[in-house]
Amino acid sequence: MKLQFLGAQEGVTGSCYHIQSDKTSFLIDCGQFQGSSEEERKNREPFPFDPKSLDFVVLTHAHIDHTGRLPRLVKEGFTGRVFMTRGTASLSDILLKDSGKIHEVETEKENEKRLKAGLDLIEPYYDVNDVINTLQYFNPLPYEETYKITNDISVKFLNAGHLLGSAHVYLTLEGKSLLFSGDVGTYHSQILLPPRPAIQADYIFVESTYGNRLHKQMNIRFDRLADIILETIENKGTVIIPAFSVGRTQDIIYGLNQLDRPLSHIPFYVDSPMAINATKVFEKDLDGMKPEIIQKIKGKKHPFEMKNLQFIDDASTSYKLDYSKVPKVLISASGMCDAGRILHHLKTYLEKETTSIVFVGYQAEESQGRKIQNKKDIMIYGEEVKNRANVFTLHGFSGHADQEELLEWLTNVRPKKLFLVHGDFEAIEAFNKKIKERYKFDTYIPRLYETIEL
Ligand SMILES: [Zn+2]
Ligand SMILES: [Zn+2]
Repeated sequence: MKLQFLGAQEGVTGSCYHIQSDKTSFLIDCGQFQGSSEEERKNREPFPFDPKSLDFVVLTHAHIDHTGRLPRLVKEGFTGRVFMTRGTASLSDILLKDSGKIHEVETEKENEKRLKAGLDLIEPYYDVNDVINTLQYFNPLPYEETYKITNDISVKFLNAGHLLGSAHVYLTLEGKSLLFSGDVGTYHSQILLPPRPAIQADYIFVESTYGNRLHKQMNIRFDRLADIILETIENKGTVIIPAFSVGRTQDIIYGLNQLDRPLSHIPFYVDSPMAINATKVFEKDLDGMKPEIIQKIKGKKHPFEMKNLQFIDDASTSYKLDYSKVPKVLISASGMCDAGRILHHLKTYLEKETTSIVFVGYQAEESQGRKIQNKKDIMIYGEEVKNRANVFTLHGFSGHADQEELLEWLTNVRPKKLFLVHGDFEAIEAFNKKIKERYKFDTYIPRLYETIEL
């Protein structure tokens, strides 16, 4: 069989593998390239196969960098089934629709400029309708059950502990076995069960995002967050936490709920319609969650809510939060401050010396979030906004395994070959060195668009 690497080589986004055997042609993940405009241009590259001839797709999890080219595939004629876990199906429904909406809005803005410049108008990469067309091909499967896709191909999903529904994908075909790690979760999640260690396969494909790093401050992350919140509120300030609406937001609320700290007098707001829908999924698709969380949900204890927390759905209430002088905590998206409702909150609060901005996720090099971290002023809606806030960066909230956890994930296996993907150059190199020292595996670091024979 042939395997072509179509994303998350020489970088961490755009995850996609194309596998071709005598009779079948299929993909593992169909993710979108994200980040710089150079990365995003790769999304427009034609697929190196005819989407109509593709038999099926298997998804590891719902993050857009693993699913975001799928509606494009459908738009170009793909009509096969898409296999994933139930959690991934539910979250992909929310995330892909949101992504379709973003493509629509961005295209509209671009076309306004093009119209003025007398240039040809462009079509969105895909829109919400393309996403709705895509959802009809979804075929959710449970964890840990072997499912025969064709006479000679079977698939099994193993919990990856990275996001609700996330999975390692174990495949057998032509008498060979392949294991795709997807994104490997950390063993320190409060909500999800730890990742299932790798199982033996002839060929293993492992992510390397934090292949050169060790997570620190894992155990004190929520106490640090509570300290900042209490101090800011005492000084009559507002706390803004930019956070991804799916996963990270639920993690923060649950973590704060678990603390024995006096937070009940503070008004908390989660300002994101997507977070509301995601929280519903977190209370419905319970596969892969820790037993104590399932118990709470079944007992109607709502672990992802607080008495003093309000979810904001409509935009007008969101704007009102900026006029109120009451000290509060605002959790809003996007996590890197590049879009969404967080922008108008920052426009109001970033200039105030009493404000605290707390980063709990990675801020990409060119993001607005990175500028705020570096104490720079930023531009919002074409206006300069002074950065006088107290800025904090808290570590330990990552959903990815660190170097030691990734090495541990590989404890029980002896692959014929181990492929290292989904990592920046330094991370992959460092991880490769560690694997060679500890396990002496035959490893390989593929290039983007490279094809190999298995
Ligand atoms: Zn992911
Ligand atoms: Zn990923």
